[in-house]
Amino acid sequence: MSSHDDLLKNIISHSKEYGFIFPSSEIYDGLSATYDYGQYGKELKNNIEEYWWKAMVRMHDNIVGIDSAIFMHPTVWKASGHVDAFNDPLIDNKDSKKRYRADVLIEEYIEKLRAKIHKEVEKAAKRFGDDFNMNQFVATHPRVVEYSKQIEVIESRMKNALEENDLQAVKQLILDLEIVDPVSGTRNWTDVRQFNLMFATELGSVSGESSVIYLRPETAQGSYVNFLNVQRSGRMKIPFGICQIGKAFRNEIIARQFIFRMREFEQMEMQFFVRPGDEMEWYEYWKSTRMKWHRNLGMGDARYRFHDHIKLAHYANAACDIEFDFPMGFKEMEGIHSRTDFDLKAHEKFSSRKQQYFDAELNQNYIPYVVETAIGLDRMFMSVLSASYTDEKLPDGSERTLLRIPAQLAPVKVAVLPLVKKDGMPEKAMEVYHKLKLEVNCQFDDKDAIGRRYRRQDAIGTPFCITIDQDTLQDNTVTLRERDSMVQERISIDRLVSEVRDKTSITKLLANLD
Ligand code: ATP
Repeated sequence: MSSHDDLLKNIISHSKEYGFIFPSSEIYDGLSATYDYGQYGKELKNNIEEYWWKAMVRMHDNIVGIDSAIFMHPTVWKASGHVDAFNDPLIDNKDSKKRYRADVLIEEYIEKLRAKIHKEVEKAAKRFGDDFNMNQFVATHPRVVEYSKQIEVIESRMKNALEENDLQAVKQLILDLEIVDPVSGTRNWTDVRQFNLMFATELGSVSGESSVIYLRPETAQGSYVNFLNVQRSGRMKIPFGICQIGKAFRNEIIARQFIFRMREFEQMEMQFFVRPGDEMEWYEYWKSTRMKWHRNLGMGDARYRFHDHIKLAHYANAACDIEFDFPMGFKEMEGIHSRTDFDLKAHEKFSSRKQQYFDAELNQNYIPYVVETAIGLDRMFMSVLSASYTDEKLPDGSERTLLRIPAQLAPVKVAVLPLVKKDGMPEKAMEVYHKLKLEVNCQFDDKDAIGRRYRRQDAIGTPFCITIDQDTLQDNTVTLRERDSMVQERISIDRLVSEVRDKTSITKLLANLD
């Protein structure tokens, strides 16, 4: 088993043991790929939402947030193209009876080639040291050139096949690449078929064609159908944006890899309405703005990369992903899409209601173009866990597991710990706790030896522990222990609130973005 598999397994079991994520309906043996967020998971999720919402809505005076219903008129999904085109190509292996997404099998093959290139580059960089010229190496090294050529050919074949909806060609590509089923190890594949990802249900008690409605597969449509409501009621001028955080549902062919791919998940999406023709400029703006938002968390710039889409969705004229280096490798965390006027135009057609904006500066009516940023809250959550989970050996030989969660996102900001349960220490600690709890999420803990209490807080990612000891009772100072360095400093209780607030509040993170 690779260390990556180990990391994923460790994160899953740690999440359960420490109240971040539980398998859903566990007493009934669970429901596949469905999870519940526990007491610390919910807090972490709230903090990620707050960081996103404030960065998007509060920091931009031309962006507002709404909360539209999950159920929508069924024609919305006809107009948006989801009824006809929100499909994934699926393929089964006849021996293992396992089902796969055909495009993902091919993408994984490409990723292996990319890994080979990466290995060659790393080897050469080591060999040549300071003299290494990466661009020259990549352009001339025979094996690397060959791998790159292969990637180009495969990507172009896949793009053509998917765009033409030529499922036979997709299968042929899988056969030509000699892709085997990881479970059975055979190439005994069925034909490729399209599978619609929307969950359908019935509204009310009347069954029949007309009452079929869908659980929304994205929040975006709720923003489109409210485009004019928001524009008029808020007197918004283009360019402006509408944000939403909410649940989305997709009947994924294979849902796995923990909370990375689920059938019920949460999205944080922003639709930015711009003048036709300005969309590429805004697309670039949102690419860099969103990347900055991610890197601002300080989890390591090398963990993020852009990936341009090979096959554009039916509504897009440009699209890329921000990928994160998850335990399973680099995978999509956020999509940035230039969706043209596709959606609003379609809604105008299907609803027979004008979806136009009067631009006073241009003295012109038009349907705006849209640039969308769409991030999965659960994937973002998983990125934080992946980057912060650490097993550490300490100088005294002992070990600890800690979550180096950025302090601003940590579920609990500070724990207040009386050194021992006597001499008035618990009472003093309680006083401090009551003062702090008005400002930040904090815990009081007086059970077990102090070392064990520190470990418990490390395991849930609490950035600071405050210890009340004998000296506190004399001089009103406490020790403030920092999670990662374990360094302890002595500070006065009077400074405590402002010190902790300063180090853990999202305000500072937002200020860096300005
Ligand atoms: P993928 O290619 O992984 O299926 P997508 O490109 O279809 O994702 P989008 O439609 O761009 O995804 O949705 C925006 C974001 O929603 C994604 O970047 C991802 O973070 C999140 N997301 C999409 N599907 C799921 C899912 N099944 N489970 C969890 N998060 C998801």
